[in-house]
Amino acid sequence: MRLPEWIRTTHVPGLHETRSLLRRHRLATVCEEARCPNMGRCFARPTAAFMILGSACTRNCGFCSVVSGHPEPPDEKEPDNVAAAAAELGLRYVVVTSVTRDDLADGGARHFSRTIEAIRQRLPATKVEVLTPDFKGRREALRTVLQAGPDVFNHNMETVERLYPAVRPAADYRRSLRVLRAAKDLAPHIFIKSGFMLGLGETPDEVGRLLQDLLKAGCDFLTIGQYLQPTRKNLPVVEYMRPEVFEDLRKRARAMGFRFAASGPMVRSSMNADEMYNCNPGPKQPAATERASEEEDA
Ligand code: SF4
Repeated sequence: MRLPEWIRTTHVPGLHETRSLLRRHRLATVCEEARCPNMGRCFARPTAAFMILGSACTRNCGFCSVVSGHPEPPDEKEPDNVAAAAAELGLRYVVVTSVTRDDLADGGARHFSRTIEAIRQRLPATKVEVLTPDFKGRREALRTVLQAGPDVFNHNMETVERLYPAVRPAADYRRSLRVLRAAKDLAPHIFIKSGFMLGLGETPDEVGRLLQDLLKAGCDFLTIGQYLQPTRKNLPVVEYMRPEVFEDLRKRARAMGFRFAASGPMVRSSMNADEMYNCNPGPKQPAATERASEEEDA
């Protein structure tokens, strides 16, 4: 389908400098691996969403262009490299994400926590958002990441429940909601964030149910964007939703009680993530990071 006029990528200078800095620190970004349309603008700011744990994923989601295959062992120097690159870029807000590592016993949770700690040590004033896989719902892995104290915990739902078999075959809609709920229970003082795409064939009723499920799971921040087919191997776009649809959803999400909702054709999970954090209505009160009860795995 032809791209509608409201889907535009912007080429801005500064992209190359950020890219060469990332290569110098032997780092990958989801921006590049997932062919994000906003990369030019973000890299020029500069900002980037660091992708740790390698560039090969153990899953193969229909919407994603990240390579699927047998990942390398985690690079032990990566946490420090991320902190060094963030310092060199002068970042006040860092997003750390990863491929899914179902091959690792903790799903890579310890590597996430070491990366948060390395950033904290090097840049104490910098905010850290982690965008994690579902760790197969393992509560211990979640606890490991949350105890490192990120400012925002993000796990994307990506689409509505009915479309999971095609869009995220190795994931589970209910399990991902449980991960968000468990994160909220384990760390009530950390903002919980999630996001999904439109244009994969979902109905307005299904989107309404997803919003309700996210709110019930304790989600504070929400991102809604247009699915764009990254390669011919990926799922086709079923529909390009008009900007008004996104705006209506943004207003609806706010009226439902989400602290902040970014919704628009070019909106992506980590795009302007700092703005979302900085303009939410007031910091959360620190509270006990862990409910005493030894509940079953999420
Ligand atoms: S889990 Fe899915 S979306 Fe995430 S990197 Fe792997 S293939 Fe892409």
